[in-house]
Amino acid sequence: MTATHCPYCALQCTMRLEPGADGRPAARPAPFPASRGGLCRKGWSAAELLTVSDRLTAPLMRPRRGAALEPVGWEVALDCVAGRLRGLRTECGPDSVAVFGGGGLTNEKSYLLGKFARLALGTSQIDYNGRFCMSSAAAAGLRAFGLDRGLPFPVADLAEAEVILLAGANVAETMPPLMGHLSGARLIVVDPRRSATAERAVAGGGLHLAPRPGTDTALALGLLHAVRAQGLADAGYIAERTAGFEQAWAHAAAWWPEQAERHTGVPAGDIRAAAQMLGAASGAYMLTGRGTEQHAKGTDTVSAWINLALALGLPGRRGSGYGCLTGQGNGQGGREHGQKADQLPGYRRIDDPDARAHVAGVWGVEAEALPGPGRSAFELLDSLGAEGGARALLLFGSNPVVSAPQADRVRNRLEGLDLLVVADFVLSETAAMADVVFPVTQWAEEEGTMTNLEGRVLRRRRATQAPPGVRTDLEVVSGLAVRLGRSAAEFPTEADAVLAELGAASAGGAADYSGVTPERLEAGEALHWPVPAGGAATPRMFLEAFAHPDGRARFAAVAHRGPAETTNAEYPLLATTGRLLAHYQSGAQTRRIGELARAEPESYVEVHPDTAARSGLAEGAWARVVSRRGAALARVRLRCDARTDTVFLPFHFAGAQRANLITNPALDPISRMPEFKVSAVRLEPATDA
Ligand code: SF4
Repeated sequence: MTATHCPYCALQCTMRLEPGADGRPAARPAPFPASRGGLCRKGWSAAELLTVSDRLTAPLMRPRRGAALEPVGWEVALDCVAGRLRGLRTECGPDSVAVFGGGGLTNEKSYLLGKFARLALGTSQIDYNGRFCMSSAAAAGLRAFGLDRGLPFPVADLAEAEVILLAGANVAETMPPLMGHLSGARLIVVDPRRSATAERAVAGGGLHLAPRPGTDTALALGLLHAVRAQGLADAGYIAERTAGFEQAWAHAAAWWPEQAERHTGVPAGDIRAAAQMLGAASGAYMLTGRGTEQHAKGTDTVSAWINLALALGLPGRRGSGYGCLTGQGNGQGGREHGQKADQLPGYRRIDDPDARAHVAGVWGVEAEALPGPGRSAFELLDSLGAEGGARALLLFGSNPVVSAPQADRVRNRLEGLDLLVVADFVLSETAAMADVVFPVTQWAEEEGTMTNLEGRVLRRRRATQAPPGVRTDLEVVSGLAVRLGRSAAEFPTEADAVLAELGAASAGGAADYSGVTPERLEAGEALHWPVPAGGAATPRMFLEAFAHPDGRARFAAVAHRGPAETTNAEYPLLATTGRLLAHYQSGAQTRRIGELARAEPESYVEVHPDTAARSGLAEGAWARVVSRRGAALARVRLRCDARTDTVFLPFHFAGAQRANLITNPALDPISRMPEFKVSAVRLEPATDA
């Protein structure tokens, strides 16, 4: 049986497909250090995706605006799309066409999509859904270390830890096999919810710090204050390996734990206890997740946590460290190869003349031919069909009608387009709106590489044949590029050929893949990037020096700022959103898996009983969660351990149950990530649901 990797999250557990009892493929776990040979519930049931009843097997087109989608041949669909793109470019210029990618696409797809946008379309308008989930940590990591790799050490190193602080990461539900590496450590979990991970922390003698949503920068500043006041800062490390401590301290000096308690609601005694646990541990790690990032100040918040890690002397040492837990399957690789608005392959900046010259040389064009930076994901989506925005969108591996903030505003933008083209293997909520849908292969039906949360490049192998009638994303991109005047040699359809070109384009860059070859991957080498051609991989980074020119990490001078919107009499509560064990991202895949859909069939809102009573709501009732932007339906689940000022909704559901109908598109000024995690809301009984 061929080993492949899970279609979902960034742990990328290894699995084999075997014939199940009913003759259909079944997923079975296989050895892999990051997962310790485990799978979560989603992984065990993933093979059902390969036989879903509504699988697309022919391109679909609308014969006219407003008509239903109808099956057509591949040549008809590709010719039609290419013709309309040519017409738009001639009439309105190259930026009239936009491209939107995804953090689940393989490295090869991410690379070819960026090349397609910049070379075949000549557009600057390309970004991807990873902007919504990791860009703040990436920006903060670059600022602190000069380089961003989610975990700059192998996942397995976490097993050595005595104490681990998890900020805004509910690992027990989002990556259950990872918990095996954490079981020997005492956990400090920072989360407004009493999540499954927070419960594990408390049960294991650790701490749960539950700040009011949007106040985690204040909590991190309070912890930094406590660390210094309790004599736990590593003065030698700060002097030898960092710069900027005093400037950062100037913002923390007033954050006595009691002051932090006033803003966050976390008891000062717990702040001091957490500082003591971290400072006294012989090996401590700090890990951040989406809860720290998805704010209009997410970059500064992640920086505040990194400041704390630097003050304790954790990063760049064996047995301790800081890392960001990537979410999507290829959230790491997806941001390295050029599908991001401001980047070229090799994790290079698109406005860097040397980077432009290098990549242009690999592509055989002049650097001047490459467009400059484009709009970030939400700004791109929000400009569609508007003055100065694109009039056509090509979308791969994403479902923004469910996953983008203020989702109905995005839906309206998509409805205003001249042309919406979606590549997917089922009719997702966004694909259902498209003018043309290309049916494509999925994970176990295709070859390619993924880069998991520890920067390890993995070979995702074809373990089963795709049904007749579907093509790979690479074939779709290449088919369009050729029709737009590029050569087939410039847009290969074999994953290994794309990997070889990606390696050349990334050579010498921060994320150097030039030494990643099919042979080394087949041999089972643990290829954590950077991997220079013929050189060794880099499982642990920064042990000698950080990536800034002077080798020192940077403290960031960050101050606490409140969320983009505040509560008032009309919207007295804060809503925060997150993920569930049974579902993944927009749910387009997991809502189609029988076992998972039965486990979590509908959206819900977690509410404290007192808060529910004030809104006239009881357990099991349907509620309308209303923000300044819209309303989402959810069934009430009472939780006595919930904060009375905060409610929680999962974001995996469709239609009127979309949590993102209420979320706030206020953007972080550096990363351009939206504020998914804090919305001012009220609850109403939904008697008509
Ligand atoms: Fe592993 Fe993540 Fe897949 Fe679960 S969803 S099996 S944790 S890769």
